[in-house]
Parts: sequence; C-alpha cells; structure tokens
Amino acid sequence: MHLGRFPLLLIDSHAHLDSERYAEDREAMLHRAFEAGVGAILAIGIGEGPAEMHQALEICRQFNGQPDIPRLYASAGIYPHNTPEADEAALAKLDSLLAEPEVIACGEIGLDYYHEGAPHAVQLEVLTRQLEIAAAHKRPILIHCRPKDGEVDAWDDLFVILEERWRSTGLGGVMHCFSGTWEQAQRSLDLGFLLSFAGNLTFPKAQPMRDVAARLPLDRILVETDAPYLTPVPLRGKRNESAFMVNTARTLAELLKVTEEEIASATTKNFQRLFRLRADVGN
Ligand SMILES: [Zn+2]
Repeated sequence: MHLGRFPLLLIDSHAHLDSERYAEDREAMLHRAFEAGVGAILAIGIGEGPAEMHQALEICRQFNGQPDIPRLYASAGIYPHNTPEADEAALAKLDSLLAEPEVIACGEIGLDYYHEGAPHAVQLEVLTRQLEIAAAHKRPILIHCRPKDGEVDAWDDLFVILEERWRSTGLGGVMHCFSGTWEQAQRSLDLGFLLSFAGNLTFPKAQPMRDVAARLPLDRILVETDAPYLTPVPLRGKRNESAFMVNTARTLAELLKVTEEEIASATTKNFQRLFRLRADVGN
C-alpha cells in the first residue's frame, strides 16, 4: 500500500535502525523514509545490550551525507532490561558515546516493570547512574516507562527519580511511546518533557491513549515509529519502518484538530528545540 508523501518534513524521533531486521535492506528502507517525507530520524543506540550501544552512531556515520536519505542522529543508553550488564566499562562507553556530536540524546533508559527481567533495584540504580552521565554531557533523555498492567508502580518510581535527579538540569527529554494516563502526561509536561506517540496510537484498542493525546498542547508532542516494532494501522503485522510514521502523524493531526502541515511543522520544531538543533535539520 502506498501511503503518499507527507506534505512537510517529519522527524521520526525514535527508530531502532540498527535492528537485525534491516540487515538486508537498510539503505532502501532509509530511501523509502525520505520519499515519504521523513527528513530526519533519531536512531536509538541500545542494541541488544551495552556491547551494541555504538551501532546507532555507526549507522549515522555510514549514511549521513548521502543523497535522498533522512538526516540521521543517534542516541546511546542502557535499556531497563539490560541494566544487569551495566558494569563500569559499559558506563564508560556510554560516557564516551555521549561526547560525540551526532549522539544528541541518552536513551532509551527508564523502568520496565511489565516484562520479567532485571530486578527493579538494579533498574533504578542504573537509571540514576545514566542520568548523571547524561547531565554531564547536557544531553536530554529518552524515557521508556512501562508499568505492570493496571498499576502505576513504574511511573511513581520514575517521577521520584526525575524530580530528585533530573528536573534541576533543565534538560528535559522525551517520554517515548507515551501510553500513560492524563495525570502522568501532566506530570511529564511539568518536568519539561515532550510526549512522543508511536504506531500503537492507531490501534483500535488505544482509545484511552488517543483521549490523552487529544488534550496535549501542540508544542509538546513528537511522532515516532519505534521501528521495527509497533507498525501502525493499516500495515499492522508487517515490520515497521520510518516511512510508515505518516499514518501516526495523520492520526495525531485528526486528534488535535489541526492540518497535516501543522502537525509536521510543530513536531519538527519541538524536536529541534529540545535538542537545540539548527532549523534547517533534514534539508
Ligand atoms: Zn524503542
């Protein structure tokens, strides 16, 4: 299915470009994103663990400067369930990656109490260490927060840490793939975060998420794919890629009762403002 080119530059604020699932067609996939109107992508540098944290940066360096490919940026971070691997060497690696100019964010980091995995105490400790490293490099953070179904445990623990250890930096960040309540959205906004929406915004069961999104100010939202995961309707079930974010952006425009042009320009400006990028990003 051809989704059509989006009228203005879109930025995919979260994609796992280093995924093995792009091994065969990464360059073609990036071309498709460009053709669809995606002008920039933030490649998430978590790999399958700290040993692969540098892969997103390598992809940036491989493709930036090539024609008809979105401008690529990278992040680096240790994902909640990889925190047991966060030894001093891994934290030193994160520290040196965040010194690189293309690595504009630390993430995705945070708390995941939904899946069985790293003990909560380890997640909390390594999150705190990563906040210190990110603050030292003045890099905004990309937060993954997933509570157990029907609970608020992970959000409560997250907000305590962010209030104590992050608010004072003034650096803010992104609540990636936001699926929290209106109260959690308000607390995130109050902490200076942007809320980023992925393809699951288009899923039939996501009405509560759409209700929250519809109430958000236009200057505090982002669009992402979380590719290769969370493919939006009507392509759900396929491998996701940045070109498909067009559908999520359209859904967000409908919810906020603005045009596609307004959603594109607002989310692009929000991204540029948070990461202090020049306004010609993606051109
Ligand atoms: Zn992700």
